[in-house]
Amino acid sequence: MHAPDRPVEPAPADPVIVVHGGAWDIPQRWREEAAGVCRAAAALGRRLLVDGADAIDAVCAAIRHMEDAPVLDAGIGAAPDAFGDFSLDASLMRGSDRACGAVARLPPTRHPIDLARAVLEHSPHVMLAGPEALAWGAEHGVMPCPAADLALPPAYRDPPPYLDGGDTVGAVALDRRGALVAGTSTGGVPGRHPARVGDSPLIGCGTYCDPRGGAGSTGKGEAIIRMTLARAAVDAIGAGADPTAACKACVVDMLRLTGGRGGLIALDARGRVGLWHTTPAMAWAVADGTGVRGHWRVIGRGLDRGPS
Ligand code: ASP
Repeated sequence: MHAPDRPVEPAPADPVIVVHGGAWDIPQRWREEAAGVCRAAAALGRRLLVDGADAIDAVCAAIRHMEDAPVLDAGIGAAPDAFGDFSLDASLMRGSDRACGAVARLPPTRHPIDLARAVLEHSPHVMLAGPEALAWGAEHGVMPCPAADLALPPAYRDPPPYLDGGDTVGAVALDRRGALVAGTSTGGVPGRHPARVGDSPLIGCGTYCDPRGGAGSTGKGEAIIRMTLARAAVDAIGAGADPTAACKACVVDMLRLTGGRGGLIALDARGRVGLWHTTPAMAWAVADGTGVRGHWRVIGRGLDRGPS
């Protein structure tokens, strides 16, 4: 006797999440803490994925965790602009249907990634900017906060973790159903022009994801935009490159062609992880079936600093 026909379901993927906490010259004093926050964020995301959560939930939970850490430049600990004000950027992209949500130049709010998610899920638009974006978020439970809530606690002020740049945060996850999502959140680079928009909220630059892979960028935003860096990494993966080779080729190209340094994280549809940076440090972590690992630079591969 034959068993009744059943729809054939794809074998569940072993979920993976990779996160970063910014690629700059993280001050010595803050490197271990930055890496520890990344490991905790990746572990949190992986637990959710193992329990069956969608990649979007894991990416948002990992980024919320990093937004709460003063040692990283997103949410609490955001770097102020030249006027001493906070303005926050975030973006999120789902690979399966290329749905995107991005927010730029937000007034203080604790979790900019939540607003990017609300845009992805509830807005007909891809990107909302400025105070009106945050006002719209109230309909979806994303509220403003006092600027003081984002300020560095006194123990983090000397030197501030973002002394040399920013410590933008990002995550890419693959869930059990094989779906990919990438996201990024930042307080921006310290002392920037108050009207500057960096790469982090720009789809294709700070964040990109399609069915072939997902990627998140960090580092010199102006260079990242010129290279459409996250899209370039996913294109390289789509052309058959191993994700780490793709990340390396893209950040080394960026340095060669623009003089800008940065870092990339990536995941392909098989769950292979890519990591590379041309900056002295990049906090990162990966959580997969073999456990959680992470550091403040990419270990064991050296650093390709490109031409001097
Ligand atoms: N890329 C971000 C920006 O330029 C900064 C960072 O990655 O830390 O705004």
